[in-house]
Amino acid sequence: MIALSHLIFGLAVGKILDLRIGTVMIFSVLPDIDRIFTFAYPIVRNGFTHSVLVGLGLGVIAYVISERSSTAKSALTGHLSHLSLDLLCFRGIAVLYPATGFYSVGVFSETSFLGNLSVLSVSLILIVFESYTEVLDWIKKFS
Ligand SMILES: [Zn+2]
Repeated sequence: MIALSHLIFGLAVGKILDLRIGTVMIFSVLPDIDRIFTFAYPIVRNGFTHSVLVGLGLGVIAYVISERSSTAKSALTGHLSHLSLDLLCFRGIAVLYPATGFYSVGVFSETSFLGNLSVLSVSLILIVFESYTEVLDWIKKFS
């Protein structure tokens, strides 16, 4: 998936789960840092940065630094939102690292226009729906 899809999907998930939106969005793109450091073995594209184990570790680090469970939940959720979208792509990810293998459901390619458009569309619908229910709740408070 492209970074924009990860960001907007992270925003939607963060809004729906009422998490720290900025933290979810940052951690929703962080696993692709391996695209920058592919020259440094053992970092490989969609490798260990795309594992659940790293997500749990980042959640612990976020908790230690912030001393807030909401930040840890948001970091972990952002990471898992990234993994869930990348699992849809043909390339596959090392989701179970250190166990070997790249796993994929194989629905579309990472740069697929239709795939990214689908993710963006569903995410935007969820964001609008969630915002709509927030406005309704806000109106109910005053009626
Ligand atoms: Zn990725």
